[in-house]
Amino acid sequence: MKHDTARPEPERTQVPQPVPRLEIRDLTRAFGGQLVVDHVSLKVMPGQVTCLLGPSGCGKSTTLRMIAGVEMQDAGQIFVDGNLICDTVFRVPPERRHIGLMFQDFALFPHLSVGDNVAFGLTGPAEKKQARVTELLDKVGLRRFVDEYPYQLSGGEQQRVALARALAPRPRIMLMDEPFSGLDNRLRDDIRDETLEVLKAEDAAVLLVTHEPEEAMRMADEIALMRNGRIVQQGAPYNVYNAPVDRQSVAFFSDIN
Ligand code: ADP
Ligand code: MG
Repeated sequence: MKHDTARPEPERTQVPQPVPRLEIRDLTRAFGGQLVVDHVSLKVMPGQVTCLLGPSGCGKSTTLRMIAGVEMQDAGQIFVDGNLICDTVFRVPPERRHIGLMFQDFALFPHLSVGDNVAFGLTGPAEKKQARVTELLDKVGLRRFVDEYPYQLSGGEQQRVALARALAPRPRIMLMDEPFSGLDNRLRDDIRDETLEVLKAEDAAVLLVTHEPEEAMRMADEIALMRNGRIVQQGAPYNVYNAPVDRQSVAFFSDIN
């Protein structure tokens, strides 16, 4: 009987790894000799919400600003769909990064109607723009306000328009910096849920910054817990909440009731 020792090894089946929509590697930034963002690495997958969660002053907004391209990093790289968009020598300008922004104080243009606010970042034929505006205002339940002005809307309604405006150009990535913190407690849960629904339907990858554990637990697929400029833990919300890495994390999460 012949032995089959010469037979080549079967090729191993490669399970294709999904490419992160957004990846940052070792992003680092100091102000006046103080490390504010210290080798922060994370990935955001398409269709997912990753929460950058941590106490005030830990470096969350600085991280987001570097991703948006309005702040330069001292070291580290940013990738979108696996392509390098920024390191310390090469830099895709902010307007070409396909990133949508939503900040607490990222106000609507007061002199533009709701419809024109949503259409602001759109290019192309008027009919197409109009269709996109209508689609988004439908999604956030505000179509009837298309000709109103921001001052005629409540805070929650303005925030929904801001969401529609940010999503209008179909960003690959949405960066949201404490977008709900200016809102009434009673409104907040509803708006969080609605926002999540719209974001999922639009298939953006979302990086949401918050200092509220409750918001992260409610909205995130993945939590990156940040403290003093560093990511101290990362994982599914349930795991991060149930297996805190140290006493400081326990104390931080004890806010949730
Ligand atoms: P967070 O969003 O987590 O509250 P920030 O990223 O806004 O934190 O700020 C982190 C630290 O960096 C803070 O101590 C803040 O004072 C400091 N910082 C942020 N931006 C600047 C800047 N442009 N110049 C100097 N210090 C800054
Ligand atoms: Mg901040």
